[in-house]
Amino acid sequence: MSTEKGSISINTENIFPIIKKFLYSDNEIFLRELVSNAVDATQKIKKLASMGKFDGELGDLKIKVAVDKEAKTITISDRGLGMSAEEVKKYINQIAFSGAKDFLEKYKDVDDKNPIIGQFGLGFYSAYMVAKEVEIHTKSYQDAPAVKWLCDGTTEYEISDIEKTERGTDIILHVAEDSEEFLEEARIETILNKYGKFLPVEIEFKEEVINNPAPIWIKAPSDLKDEDYIAFYKELYPAGEDPLFWIHLNVDYPFNLTGVLYFPKIKQDFQLSREGIQLYSRQVFITDNVKDIVPEFLQLLHGVIDSPDIPLNVSRSYLQADGNVKKINSHITKKVADKLGELFNNDRKAFEEKWDSIGLFVKYGIISDDKFYDRAQNFLLFKNTENEYFTPEEYKTKVEALQKDKDENTIILYTSDAEKQDAFIKGAKKREFDVIVLNDVLDPHFINTMEQKLEKVSFKRVDGDSLDKLVDKGLTSESVLGEKEKEKVEGLFKELAGNNVVQIEALPADDAPVSIVQPEFMRRYMDMSKLNGQAGM
Ligand code: ADP
Ligand code: MG
Repeated sequence: MSTEKGSISINTENIFPIIKKFLYSDNEIFLRELVSNAVDATQKIKKLASMGKFDGELGDLKIKVAVDKEAKTITISDRGLGMSAEEVKKYINQIAFSGAKDFLEKYKDVDDKNPIIGQFGLGFYSAYMVAKEVEIHTKSYQDAPAVKWLCDGTTEYEISDIEKTERGTDIILHVAEDSEEFLEEARIETILNKYGKFLPVEIEFKEEVINNPAPIWIKAPSDLKDEDYIAFYKELYPAGEDPLFWIHLNVDYPFNLTGVLYFPKIKQDFQLSREGIQLYSRQVFITDNVKDIVPEFLQLLHGVIDSPDIPLNVSRSYLQADGNVKKINSHITKKVADKLGELFNNDRKAFEEKWDSIGLFVKYGIISDDKFYDRAQNFLLFKNTENEYFTPEEYKTKVEALQKDKDENTIILYTSDAEKQDAFIKGAKKREFDVIVLNDVLDPHFINTMEQKLEKVSFKRVDGDSLDKLVDKGLTSESVLGEKEKEKVEGLFKELAGNNVVQIEALPADDAPVSIVQPEFMRRYMDMSKLNGQAGM
C-alpha cells in the first residue's frame, strides 16, 4: 500500500461532554473562570485607557455577581472592554482560541500593571458544567452594536443585536437541574470567597464587596510595616495566633513569583498540617494543596505564593518534572534559609527564644533536604538541660575535651525525657558532662542525619550504656561497687529484668549504686521501628 497522509479530524459534537467531564475536576470552578474573565475584561479596559486608546468614562468598574433563584440564573456582569459581534465569533465560538493571549500578544511591550489571567481559551466553556444554556450580552468599548449570544451547549449558537447602553458584558447562566445547589446564595458566596478573595478588581455580591483587591504580596516590602503583615495573616487565618516572622518573596527572573510566607508558632504537640500555604496565580486562588510545589518541610509554613508560571491544569507527574516548579522549590528553600540566618545573626537571643517553634522546622529541613542543611548548620541550635544554646560547632568545642570515646569520637549526650531520665542527667553532670535536650517526634531521625553530617560525632542517650564507655577511658571513675559486688548485682537484676536488651551498669547515676541501661544501638532500633509503625510506613 502506498503512503497516505491526512489530518485527524475532531468531531466537535463530542467536545462538550469532554470539557464537561474532564477539563476541570471540580465543577464549582466555573465561577472562578467566569469571574476571572470579567476581571480580565476590566483590566484590559484600564490598560487601554492608560495607553490613551480609550478616552471615554471608565465609570464604576465593579464586577457584580447575582443569583436569581426563581429564574434559575446566575449572572456575572462587568464593565470591561466588551465584545463586538465579530469578537464574540472569534473569541467565544472558537474553542481554545484565547482572546487574552491575543491581547497580550498585541500589547506585549506595555508595562504590565494590570495583569491578565486567561491564557488557555477554555475557561468560558466551564460554564457548561453547571448551565444548560448560556447567554452573553455584551457591548464593546468601540463603536459597535451590542449583541446577544446564546448557546445551549450543543455546537449550534445564535447571535443577534440587542439594546444595551452600558459598555461591558453580562454572562447569564441558566442553571441545569442537576446543579441547582449553585442557586443558593450561601454556596456562591463561599465559592467567591474561596477563589476571589484577592482578585485585583472589586467583586460585589449582595451589595457588598467581597474581596481585597490589593493584598500585601503584590506591594513593595518597603511600603509595608509589621502591622500590615500581621493584619494580613489574620485575614488569612482569623483564628491563628500571631506569626513569629515572615518572608516576602519577590522574584521576576527566571520565573515570576511573589508571596508572603509566615512562620507560625508550632505547638509541641503539633499536627503536621499540609494546608498552610495557599497557591494563587495572578491573584486567583488555585489550591491550598501545595504538595508538589513546595518542599515537604516548608509545608509547615503559612501564607501565600502567587506565580503565573506554575502550570495549573496539568497532571501531578507533569508538575513534578516541570523545570519552573523545581526552581521555585529551591528558590523558596534558599530564601527561607537566608531569612533564618539573618534572624540568627541580627538577634541571636530572640532567635533562641523562638527555637521551640523554629527548631522543629529546621530539623525537618535538615532531615529532608541536603541543600538546606548546608545553610542551616550555621543557625542550627542544640539546647542543653541548662537552657543554653549552641551551634553544632560551638557545642563540639564545648564538650570535646571530656566527652570522647576510645575512637576519638566526640560523644553528644542527650535526653529524650528530662523528667524520667533525671537520675542519669544528674549522674552525667556530676562527671561534668553536658546533656542536650532532644525530645521532639523528629529527633530520632534528626540524630541519625546529624551523625552522617558531623564528622566523628556520635549521639548517645544519657540513660544508655555510654557513660560507662566514657568512664572506661579513664576520665572519670567512681564506681561504688567492687568487681565481685558488681557481678552479683548484675546477676540479680538481669534475672529480674528477664530481658537481654537490658544491660546492668554498676556505675552510679547520681547516688544510685546501680543503673539499668540499654545499649544505644538497640534502643535506637526499637525507637525507630516504633516511630515508623506510628507513621504507618
Ligand atoms: P481565556 O480567558 O483563557 O482567554 P476563556 O475561554 O476564558 O479563555 O475566554 C475566551 C475569550 O473570550 C477571552 O480571552 C476573551 O477574549 C473573551 N471573553 C470571555 N469573557 C469575556 C468578558 N466578560 N468580557 C470580554 N471578553 C470576554
Ligand atoms: Mg478565561
